[in-house]
Amino acid sequence: MLSIVVPMFNEESVLPLFIERLRPVADGLGVGYEVVAVDDGSSDGTPVGLQRARRTWPQLRVLRLRANAGHQAAISAGLARALGDYVVTLDADLQDPPEVIAEMLRVAREQHVDVVYGVRADRSTDTAFKRGTARLFYRAMNRLSGTTAPPEAGDYRLMSRATVAAINALPEYGRVLRFVVPALGFPSATVDYRREERAAGSSKYPLAKMLRLSVDSVTAFSLAPLRFATYLGLLGGVFALGLLLFALYARAAGEVVAGWTSTVVIVAGMGAVQLLALGVLGEYVGRLYAAAQARPAYHLAYDSLEADTPAAQTSDLGSRRAS
Ligand code: UDP
Ligand code: MG
Repeated sequence: MLSIVVPMFNEESVLPLFIERLRPVADGLGVGYEVVAVDDGSSDGTPVGLQRARRTWPQLRVLRLRANAGHQAAISAGLARALGDYVVTLDADLQDPPEVIAEMLRVAREQHVDVVYGVRADRSTDTAFKRGTARLFYRAMNRLSGTTAPPEAGDYRLMSRATVAAINALPEYGRVLRFVVPALGFPSATVDYRREERAAGSSKYPLAKMLRLSVDSVTAFSLAPLRFATYLGLLGGVFALGLLLFALYARAAGEVVAGWTSTVVIVAGMGAVQLLALGVLGEYVGRLYAAAQARPAYHLAYDSLEADTPAAQTSDLGSRRAS
């Protein structure tokens, strides 16, 4: 059986289009399936639209989070509850064409791999800014994490039950699945697709969220004050380099008191390096701090599969704690 996990945040305008397009694809796969729509605390008509759709589409299952938890947490909630032997995650805005699911499933079965990444071979419909920042982001992340996340692979992917179980067993904090999954190192394959235009509505990923995703990818939690020291150190480093050049120039021009050059360079350089080191140390202390807090990434309010159970009783089922 296949589970199709779809995070949705205020997607009322795209929902009818999405359902209309996904249903024939899912029905035509030739396998049993469930569509797990994760309503990420939407404040528009998304929950109503989902309930309406459920009347005519029994395979549609609805999870609702109590509050907006973010794209990654919403996917995590879906993964924690999905029942399929294979699980596909895709966005609701039709940027990831559902037709590719058939191809992913075929590749997974024929090549016996655990993960099939959807690779955005053609992103011409994304803005140049989005493409540029994304490219930088993936390059930096591959450097930093030492993983080999396929470049241009987003959150459109198929995973085996073993992969999903491995992810579910990981601690929750700001885990960014597109790097967590490659880091597992399970056998994988890729399927190319063309990134399409958002079918309706607007992006739920403003620049601030994109930045946060990037920072989470590197650090696993927001520790702005500690990070500040890191950035200050980097800035200081650049400043020291400028000073170095200036000091060397001044010395060559012969207009300095002896010893001034080296003093300035050393003071500025050491200050920068110390702040940088402190910042890096802070990142690790911060991770321990976050782990000790064991804050759940999301709170599940409702699962249509157990709709007869009062919501209050199931509210803590989705709140996982770090082990
Ligand atoms: N999304 C979500 N919670 C959020 C933000 C986004 O569940 O806080 C969902 C959104 O509904 C969509 C997917 O995540 O299905 C990707 O968001 P979007 O298409 O807005 O991002 P973009 O493609 O612009 O990066
Ligand atoms: Mg999108």
